[in-house]
Amino acid sequence: MRAGRGQLGTLSQAQVTRAFPRLLGDLDRMSAGYAALEVVRELTPEHEPVEAVFASTVAMLDALDADGAQPQPLLVCFMAHMMGLAGFAPQLDACGECGRRPGPEQSGIFDARRGHLVCRACGAAGHKLGGSVRAALAEASRGDFRVPAGGAWSMRALGSARDAMRAFIEHRIGKELHADLLTHAGRNPKR
Ligand SMILES: [Zn+2]
Repeated sequence: MRAGRGQLGTLSQAQVTRAFPRLLGDLDRMSAGYAALEVVRELTPEHEPVEAVFASTVAMLDALDADGAQPQPLLVCFMAHMMGLAGFAPQLDACGECGRRPGPEQSGIFDARRGHLVCRACGAAGHKLGGSVRAALAEASRGDFRVPAGGAWSMRALGSARDAMRAFIEHRIGKELHADLLTHAGRNPKR
C-alpha cells in the first residue's frame, strides 16, 4: 500500500491469507460483518495502526464465520467492545448520577448521550436494558465480545440493546451509522 491522492491509500497488491466462507455465504452474517466494519472505520483514527482494533476485528469476522454464530448479538456486543477500546466503555452497572445499582436481574435505563445508566430518581430516560444484556455488554466493553452460546437474547432484548449501542456510538461520532439499515428491525422511528 502506498499513499494515494487525498486520504485514500492505493492498494497495489493483495494476497488472501484468511477466508471466511460461512460469513460470505449467509446474508445475516454478512450484514453484521459489514456493520461491524463500519463501526471500526468510524471509531478508528485514520493512518494510525491500532493493533488491538485489528485483532478484535479479525476475531469478530472469525466469530461470524463460526458454526452456530448469532450475528446480531455478536454485532451488538462488538459495538460495546469497540467503544471500550476507544476509551468510552458504557457504564452499565450503576446510575452515573447517584451511584445506585440495580440488582443483577433488574433492568436499567441507559442514557446513550451520557454513556451510563440513569435511575428513576435521577430522571431515567433512554434505553431499557435487562440484567443479562447489561452484563453481556459490560463484559464485551471490557474484553470478550463473543456472546456465550445460548445466551438470553430475546428479540426485544436484542432490539433495545442494538438501539442503545447504536445511539451511543452515533452520539460519540456525531453522525448516523449506515450499515444498520441492513439489519432486520431497522431504525426505531421513536428516536
Ligand atoms: Zn440515580
